[in-house]
Amino acid sequence: MKPQFFGDVSVEKVIDMIDPFPAERAYPIDDLSPAENYKSWLEPHFYNFEIPAIILSFHSYIIRTPFHTILVDTCIGNHKTFGGMLDKWNKREGPFLDNLKKAGVTPEQVDYVMCTHLHADHVGWNTQLKDGRWVPTFPRAKYVFSKNDLDTAMERAKNTETSYIAPAYQESVLPVIEAGQVEIVETDFALDDALTILPTHGHTPGHYCLEINSGGREGILTGDCLHNAVGIAHPEWTTTFCEDKAKSNATRAALVESLTDRDVTLLPAHFAGPTAGRVRSQKGSDRRMFQVAPEAL
Ligand SMILES: [Zn+2]
Repeated sequence: MKPQFFGDVSVEKVIDMIDPFPAERAYPIDDLSPAENYKSWLEPHFYNFEIPAIILSFHSYIIRTPFHTILVDTCIGNHKTFGGMLDKWNKREGPFLDNLKKAGVTPEQVDYVMCTHLHADHVGWNTQLKDGRWVPTFPRAKYVFSKNDLDTAMERAKNTETSYIAPAYQESVLPVIEAGQVEIVETDFALDDALTILPTHGHTPGHYCLEINSGGREGILTGDCLHNAVGIAHPEWTTTFCEDKAKSNATRAALVESLTDRDVTLLPAHFAGPTAGRVRSQKGSDRRMFQVAPEAL
């Protein structure tokens, strides 16, 4: 994805990892075959029909306003603990900080870190391991967490039965709280007359999207309201990762509907390749499609 410009606000993608994920594990529904109707725009960037797999990208967005450098979602991180079906990510090491540097950003320059929600693949680079201790990666930044997600993560961390969640809290959230760098938000948070959070609960209890409105252009960082472009044609397809299935489906459907045929650039958290695009209605069908933004290629 090329950097996107909204007036004097720019958005750039920094990749941590790209990982094809088996489609039937991502979407635990009976019949995934309707996805084949959308091959023409799902391939090659978003879906691999041979495996079949959805192509999951784990990336952050750097937003630069005239006043601040903001990093949205911090991916998987290095040396983090993962178990269960995500065991393959356990203690991984990737070049994310080098990629950030190539984009012209040092950790010291980041003013805000915004996590759309507190799942392990959105908080990883919040911290890094230094001399055996987890410390905030971005030493000057305020980390913007939603109250509902923080309360839920704290509660779950006490319960060893949800231990696959506990490491993300202990390793990537708690050290930021202890460093006094957290700013807790509920439904309203705005920055620099250009950025506003949009509560979109369902995927997690406190999930938020981030809207950009600047220079007459609009964008939206959709977080995990959408995991794959196929979700635009089938918002009723819940994913394995959504915590409240009914609510996340309703939120996704409402979001897709509200963006249809509008000139709003979607910047989803997990779309690979050119990533940015728009929601368009399809001729002769009540299903919407994802159209890659030509300016992203
Ligand atoms: Zn995610």
